[in-house]
Amino acid sequence: MSQTILHNPVTVLRGVGDKMAARLSDIGIRSLEDLLFHFPLRYQDRTQVTPIGGLQDQVDGLIEGEIRAAAVTMGRRRTLVVKIEDSSGLLTVRFFHFRQAQVSQFKQGSSVQLFGTPRRLGGQLEMIHPEYRLGDGGNLVETALTPVYPTVSGLGQSTWRKLCGQALTVLGNNPPEDLLANLTEDQITLHEAIAFLHNPPPTAALSEIQQGHHPAQIRLAREELIAHQLTVQGVRDTERQHRAPPIAPLSPITTAFLASLPFTPTVAQERVARELADDMSAQQPMLRLVQGDVGSGKTLVAARAALDTLSAGYQVAFMAPTELLAEQHFANLHTWFAPLGLSVTWLSGRTKGKAREAVLDKLVTGDAGIVVGTHALFQEDVRFDQLGLIIVDEQHRFGVHQRLALADKGAEDQRPHQLALTATPIPRSLAMVAYGDLDCSIIDELPPGRQPVTTTLIDHARREAVIRRVGVACSEGRQAYWVCTAIEESDTLDIEAAEATQDALSHALAGITIGLVHGKLKPTEKATVMEQFKRGDIQLLVATTVIEVGVDVPNASLMIIDNAERLGLAQLHQLRGRVGRGTINSHCLLLFRQPLSATAQQRLKVMQDSHDGFVIAEADLEIRGPGELLGTRQTGLAEFRVARLPEHEPLLIEAQALAARMYQSDPERARGLMQRWSGARADFARV
Ligand code: ADP
Ligand code: MG
Repeated sequence: MSQTILHNPVTVLRGVGDKMAARLSDIGIRSLEDLLFHFPLRYQDRTQVTPIGGLQDQVDGLIEGEIRAAAVTMGRRRTLVVKIEDSSGLLTVRFFHFRQAQVSQFKQGSSVQLFGTPRRLGGQLEMIHPEYRLGDGGNLVETALTPVYPTVSGLGQSTWRKLCGQALTVLGNNPPEDLLANLTEDQITLHEAIAFLHNPPPTAALSEIQQGHHPAQIRLAREELIAHQLTVQGVRDTERQHRAPPIAPLSPITTAFLASLPFTPTVAQERVARELADDMSAQQPMLRLVQGDVGSGKTLVAARAALDTLSAGYQVAFMAPTELLAEQHFANLHTWFAPLGLSVTWLSGRTKGKAREAVLDKLVTGDAGIVVGTHALFQEDVRFDQLGLIIVDEQHRFGVHQRLALADKGAEDQRPHQLALTATPIPRSLAMVAYGDLDCSIIDELPPGRQPVTTTLIDHARREAVIRRVGVACSEGRQAYWVCTAIEESDTLDIEAAEATQDALSHALAGITIGLVHGKLKPTEKATVMEQFKRGDIQLLVATTVIEVGVDVPNASLMIIDNAERLGLAQLHQLRGRVGRGTINSHCLLLFRQPLSATAQQRLKVMQDSHDGFVIAEADLEIRGPGELLGTRQTGLAEFRVARLPEHEPLLIEAQALAARMYQSDPERARGLMQRWSGARADFARV
């Protein structure tokens, strides 16, 4: 009964016409329940006035003071600067966008209230564009914490507050069914928890909420994580119900291949290869993720699985997220497989016209055994004769749905085995969320003889000295990468920065051959430069971050990364993994510009102190939070509404167990939970 009322469309609320309903629907909010499960991102505390002297860097505050001065300055930007004083201190406030009328409003001696985020600039706290009320009558003080909702343009905070307020009234009279009843020990009911998060009372401890520790958050996070794990298990279950071709391990060709290698596989590679072989010998599809640090040799393990599949008469599709990485795999597999009499086919977005038709034809007839390529592989018109295995490299760059779209290309009554590889080790809790439908194998060992890379942080001011050092290294026969990023984030600017750097370096380092690669080069041009670098004809390779993954030149032992403070830890770790592949001592120099933000400083220090991908990933999660870490949109990873990682990791582990039981024993309840939480941001549910 109460369920039906909460399932009413949002149009039953006052102030919601067709136009607003459409806007809400765009972000997945259609019913009152959807609205109630759209929770504030954070809260502002406007319940009390903070003395100026008590303001903290980056912590929102409401202050009350007297205007000491107001003037327009004409620096690089026209700025209205206002000085506010109370008995505890003086605060500078800046407005970059202002009307002339505003300037005269700020009368010296009159009182003002401001709400904003103070930032420390040159030792002093400043507020930029705070909200303000002039005069004694102005009152920004609120009696409760003020929720701030995630929103889109056209839906202001006051609208959210009004709508949610109305929905809460309905909720109060019609408490929703408690789908966790008798399962957990929460003291707080579902509707109390919902009401609390939309409307925390003035007594609520903001710090507790900010850390995600409030019982209302725990109650909802638990439910959300259970719902998510149910969805993940649903995906997994659906996949497992299909039939897959059983593949016998260690075919004669695979054995011949292993014998032809100039090295022996590591113990970890052997173990993981066996895990894959076990999965693939079954009549259900393998669903496995192989995690292994940069350089741990994941490709070899994948190649073995591919060879067994080909030997059994099935096709293999090997997909990588970038053109450059796919080309590397193509070249690598070609070198390995050609002597065995197996040809490797190539398909990318740039394969066009007749060439593309020819490839599609070979795939659908089964003439092509293994195809390597990019996103182009899962396009609609790409069909296979007998697809037996898909390999997705750098799985975190793809969405779950992209892997499944490729898996859909099996023969009518069967599904291919699925192997995902990732070089970005991610903490266990995140793996459960991002790859929860996959079994996991870890290659926790690097091939012998790898050299740790010495990492040094260097101020941009010492760039000249760095250039000289590159010159010396190259003249001694070593090779180096110079990775360029622009100061602002932009692919085009990155390329410009790389071109400018190449220019500057060729002037400074006469006699050294310098190459350039970036994402906008034609594949043939890129391949030529890479080939020259591999052969040693090019000594110094200037590049954008396109070389992040896959490039393998053992003689390259020095890497410079420009504006390293701009890159995330995962990216820095990937880049650094390009050196230290040979037997020579390798160095990575991280050039940074002052001033460094606190988090940039932390990141660079982690790089200097650690080589372990897992340690770096944990640090990344702590510094940045999970959304940014994986790049939510790319992964199809649900962006949680209440749950947070790593804070709620214990809840996640418990949720996995609970979900497993509920999935079997109470499918009705499971469906209710999934539906309740499958709103706008639960992308995973819509794979
Ligand atoms: P990643 O796990 O980063 O994808 P790759 O598969 O690209 O690593 O392997 C990195 C390099 O190490 C390649 O040149 C590969 O041929 C080589 N390699 C792989 N396994 C071994 C091994 N057991 N011993 C020595 N070299 C190996
Ligand atoms: Mg790789």
